[in-house]
Amino acid sequence: MNEVLKFDRLHLWHPYAKAGEEAPPVWEVVKAEGVKLTISDGHELIDGVSSWWCACHGHNPPEIVEAIQKQAEKFSQVMFAGFTHRPAAELGELLLSAAPGNMEQIFYVDSGSVASEAMMKLAMLYQEARRRPERKLMLTIKGGYHGDTLGAMSVSDPDGMHHAFAGAMVQNIFAEAPKSKHGGEFCEDDIADFGEKLRANEGKIAGVILEPVFQGANRMYFYHEEFLRRVKVLCDEFDILLMFDEVASGFGRLGKFFASEFAGVEPDVMSVGKGLTGGMIGLAAVLASGKVARVAGSFTHGPTFMANPVACAAGAASLRIFQRGEWQKRVAAIDKQLRKELAPAMELPNVADVRSMGAVGVIEVKKMPPPEAYRQLLLKNGVWLRPFGNYIYTMPPLITGEGDLTKITSCMLEIAGI
Ligand SMILES: *Cc1c(COP(=O)(O)O)cnc(C)c1O
Repeated sequence: MNEVLKFDRLHLWHPYAKAGEEAPPVWEVVKAEGVKLTISDGHELIDGVSSWWCACHGHNPPEIVEAIQKQAEKFSQVMFAGFTHRPAAELGELLLSAAPGNMEQIFYVDSGSVASEAMMKLAMLYQEARRRPERKLMLTIKGGYHGDTLGAMSVSDPDGMHHAFAGAMVQNIFAEAPKSKHGGEFCEDDIADFGEKLRANEGKIAGVILEPVFQGANRMYFYHEEFLRRVKVLCDEFDILLMFDEVASGFGRLGKFFASEFAGVEPDVMSVGKGLTGGMIGLAAVLASGKVARVAGSFTHGPTFMANPVACAAGAASLRIFQRGEWQKRVAAIDKQLRKELAPAMELPNVADVRSMGAVGVIEVKKMPPPEAYRQLLLKNGVWLRPFGNYIYTMPPLITGEGDLTKITSCMLEIAGI
């Protein structure tokens, strides 16, 4: 163990991990470029999860590195109260041109979880301004994930990874998640429970928060977009805000730039994060329709690093790469290859389901191999994956080539097979 690993072992916490001697092992990254991570023992690993779904153009794309360097030399941070700057405006313009047509107003924050918090506050402000101050709750669907802060946890799956905090959270309202799969038939039953919960609690609900089409960090599931169209009609009927959390589904991941495009539904409010800066630096945002922004009044939220200039410059550079449009062909190719190469997993006795959409591929297993066994397989295959629950999945950088993707899928099959 070198100095870094020794210090880490003694003092650094990792996500969802114990401290100290009982902590799961980690590898030290010494280089990240394109789709590859190099660790300190010399192994190269293809980043099959885009470093938690962020590095959509791969690691260190030169255009974004340059944008960050240039902005850091000019100025790296100024408060956003009383000031503005070019990177914030440039990123904003690019974001609005890519977002649903009704989006007009942008609120920058530092992470996806905080975007969820801000989005829910905006819904409450909107209802308050409409003289319905008793509308403070959120309606969502089971199996969702919106972040790790208290408010975000209160709309994520209550029986899942956050159960220890159950008593500390607002009791929001959960409807059954849709069972109809994306690409299959829509079953009318899917909207029944949601409709009932909404009608029964209409006077208490400020907004509906959902991950459109793709429920990620909780269940890796792609559901039918018709569900979103039904939800939209119900929300409009009761003037309840419809909020799409596009933190995972946005930026081309599923094959369209935003998942809302599959349904043709314009939400009232949406959030973006993860891929916003091409995964180069933390930044997220809440986007709102003009109507919501005008009604809601003063947005009582204001992170210290709101609209950080370096992060905004990275975001603008990332969106310019997207604007060139190459991602569409690549995601279509990744989609096709994932379907083809993951299909044989269905034959394995340990496999419960195989599914994929765009640049997301999932093998759901009955039993996960022990961590040490799959870590050895990762090293052997030269691939980085981070399975959770019973899901072995990949969300590779959108630039991943055919050969590298084959290495990822064969590694996934090998893990599923042990
Ligand atoms: C990751 C994620 C978040 C939280 O984002 P952080 O930047 O980790 O706070 C919120 N919503 C969805 C859908 C996510 O996938």
